[in-house]
Amino acid sequence: MVKNIKLLLLKNQKQEVMIMKHKQTEDGNFLIKLEPGDRVINAINSIMEYLNIKAGLITGIGAVNNPTLGYFDINQKKYIEKTLTGNFEVLSLNGNIAQKEEKPFCHIHVILGDNEMKTFGGHLIEMEVTVTLELIVIPLKENLRRTPDETTSLWLWNL
Ligand code: ZN
Repeated sequence: MVKNIKLLLLKNQKQEVMIMKHKQTEDGNFLIKLEPGDRVINAINSIMEYLNIKAGLITGIGAVNNPTLGYFDINQKKYIEKTLTGNFEVLSLNGNIAQKEEKPFCHIHVILGDNEMKTFGGHLIEMEVTVTLELIVIPLKENLRRTPDETTSLWLWNL
């Protein structure tokens, strides 16, 4: 048996009202359904803050448009970003949740497929849900934190 579906109303950075359906399973995991128009990274960070999840595993499938992906260039020490135009299937969304400066921070990679079944992948900067995005979050009983790393200039796990 699962707990009742909750409807979460949040305001994102643009002060738009976001609605996220979610429920907690009996084993303590979360099912989260994102709706058309939801910005994925923004929505996940918001709902993790609401659910007070400080560490966890996230996985998902669904459909999005105009995704911006990143590739971390080791020499430049920064992400090279590219926005793909059009609609894509989310074949695999995989990542983790940790705390960055006391706020939830999700680090997510995706593999996307186009209408010719070609695939693209990378570090997810942001993308918008078109049909749906079905997410499963497995919380971990750990307060996982990210701190700045001088060598890479990234915020890495502080274990
Ligand atoms: Zn990454």
